[in-house]
This record gives sequence, C-alpha cells and structure tokens, in this order.
Amino acid sequence: MHKKIWLSLAQMGGKEQQFVKEAFDTNWVVPLGPNVEGFERDLQSYIGGNKNVVALSSGTAAIHLALIQLNIGPGDEVICQSFTFAATANPIKYIGANPVFIDSEPDTWNMSPAVLEEAILDRIAKTGKKPKAIIPVHLYGMPARMDKITEVADKFGIPVLEDAAEALGSKYKGQSCGTFGHFACLSFNGNKMITTSGGGALVCTTLEEANKTKFYATQARDNAPHYQHSHIGYNYRMSNICAGIGRGQMLVLEDHVTARRKNHQIYRELLQDFAGITFFDNPSNDFESNHWLTCIIIDPKITGFTKEALRLRMEAENIETRPLWKPMHLQPVFADCNFYGSGVAEKLFDQGLCLPSHTNLTRKDLERVVDQIINMIKTQDIL
Ligand SMILES: *Cc1c(COP(=O)(O)O)cnc(C)c1O
Repeated sequence: MHKKIWLSLAQMGGKEQQFVKEAFDTNWVVPLGPNVEGFERDLQSYIGGNKNVVALSSGTAAIHLALIQLNIGPGDEVICQSFTFAATANPIKYIGANPVFIDSEPDTWNMSPAVLEEAILDRIAKTGKKPKAIIPVHLYGMPARMDKITEVADKFGIPVLEDAAEALGSKYKGQSCGTFGHFACLSFNGNKMITTSGGGALVCTTLEEANKTKFYATQARDNAPHYQHSHIGYNYRMSNICAGIGRGQMLVLEDHVTARRKNHQIYRELLQDFAGITFFDNPSNDFESNHWLTCIIIDPKITGFTKEALRLRMEAENIETRPLWKPMHLQPVFADCNFYGSGVAEKLFDQGLCLPSHTNLTRKDLERVVDQIINMIKTQDIL
C-alpha cells in the first residue's frame, strides 16, 4: 500500500518550539503573556488595515463574541452564507437568534450579493425588522465579492461579520481578507493555513471593541479587587503556549500560501486536458485566493462518473479527499430556517471534491492523485 496522502495537515516551521520554550522558561505557562500580544501584533501587521486583533480559543468563539457585541439576541435574524462549515452558523443559535441562509454565486462560490439584497427586502417585508448582521464567508480561501456585499450592507445599515477562517493570506482587490467587515474571524485550527493546535482570533475595527472582546473572553470581570460581574462572560482567550506556536507559524505563513497556490497550479496543469473537470479558480485578477484547498467540480454527464465514485477510488488508494461543504439549508439541524437562492450551492455540493492540498505535498504526490482521476476517465472511455 502506498503511503497515505492526507487532505490537509498541520505543518510546523521549526521556530514554534522556541517560542513555546520561552514561555516555559519565563513561567508564562498561563493564559495571556508576551506570546499572545506578540501573535496579535504579528496578525495585525500581516492583514494590515489598522485593525485590532484579539487572539481567542477558536474561530467559533470569535464569531460568538462578535455577535454578542453587535447586540444580537433572541428572535433576531442574522444573514449567513449557506455554503459553509457549520461553525459559521452555530453561534447564531448560541445567542438565540435565527439564521437566514443565502445561496452562493457560481463564480466565487460565496454569498451572492443579488440574493442578499432580495433576502433583506423580503425579511423586512415579512417581519417588519432588518436582519441584525450579515456573515459572508471566503470559502476554501476564495474571497467573497466584498465590494458588492458591503454596498448592499451599507444601503440597509447592517454590519458585516466576515468569516475569514479559511482565508488568511487571501486578498480581494489588493486588500486582505479579514479586513473588510466590521468584525472578522480567523481560525488556527489543525488544518487551516496556520495552526496554534487550536485557536482563532477576532479582528475588530476599534480599540474599544478589542478591549471589550478581551473582557468577554476572560469571564467579564468588572474592575474591582474582588470578583464582580455585571455581564455574562466566557472563557475564550488564547493561552500563551498556543500563541507561541502561532508566532512560529507566522514566520512560515507566506511559505504556506505559496505552497498551497502551487498545489493548485500543478493540479491544473496536470488535468487541463480533461473535459468535465473544472477547477475553482480566481474569477478575475481582483481575486487572490490562498487556495487553502484545491477543489474540483466533476460533471458526471461528461466524465461518466460522480464525485463520490472518485472519492471512493481515492480512498481505496489511500488518498484522502472530501466532498465540498454540505450547505447549511440542507442540514437537518437548520431545516426550519429560511433560505434564499436557486440551487447554486446544492449543485456545488453535488459535484465538488476537495483534493489533497497540504503544504508539503511533492509533485509526485500530486501526480499520484491525478493518476487516479485520469484512470477513472480512461476506464469510462472503454465502457
Ligand atoms: C474552521 C472554520 C471555522 C471555525 O473555526 P474554529 O477555529 O475551528 O472554531 C469557522 N468558519 C469556517 C468557514 C471554518 O472553516
């Protein structure tokens, strides 16, 4: 059996242990400490845009704390991209609000600005109230069409919370993903662009919001010598140890982006002659995806096989692939939520597959993956 080729793995750069050791040596093996502040500074200067970054225990926690600060509560509606991972939508339920799911557009695979506007008008007509926030996602690292989404959001005065969990290193019109929304979440979970073994961050516009985020993330302690609380708090801050890993990872983030983009390019090169296989490419020069995962769409009417048949073949060959995210409006847990759209995300889910994309794959590894696809195509020809 060939060695296993994984979809996406954490990849250490080498300096992580040094930062962690420093934390041990100086007895900062506690939440907070110099690595947390250092990591936040690194992230701030990397994404630019004069933002205030707060390191947290997860990207999910970041979305939760953003929704709290946007004063969203029980009975409110929050607009959310349907084509995403459940962590985008779950925090809406944590605070008792209701997600309204929006379909994707065919080229970016992300929130359709046209459907967004239609949905806002319909929600106002039906409920007499505006939705309280809009959550677009940069799925698989591909920037959402942020200028158009922001235009619609501004027209109705609704704040944007950007889910940039998969998009560290991606840019739209030269601007970093994670700097478009009033708030944005980042994730450093095990298989994202960089990892802290588990962690996230909330990108805030003002210093005041950053301070408030830290306050909520550390049990909402009032300023008093005893433990006094006038708000419900959370234990969501990133530890100094995890942040040490993060500081080491920041040194290799650009290498990771380069490597993932190169994977995408090599796959494209090797498969360009095969009809029925379409890549998730940047729609134009405005888009600079980090290509966190290389995704393909398989049209079974042309190829003669489905994405699931290919996934099973890969699995038999010890290669891990994964179907694209199942849209939220198709998830049993969100079955009773409103959805606006026309089947774009559904079709992507139906035909799409993520190929192995981690940072240290060799050209040989990628060729082994591509060989499976080519063999499938050839077998179909014989039939
Ligand atoms: C990973 C991810 C999250 C959540 O981040 P965690 O750090 O795992 O909590 C949110 N949204 C998207 C799109 C993600 O891929």
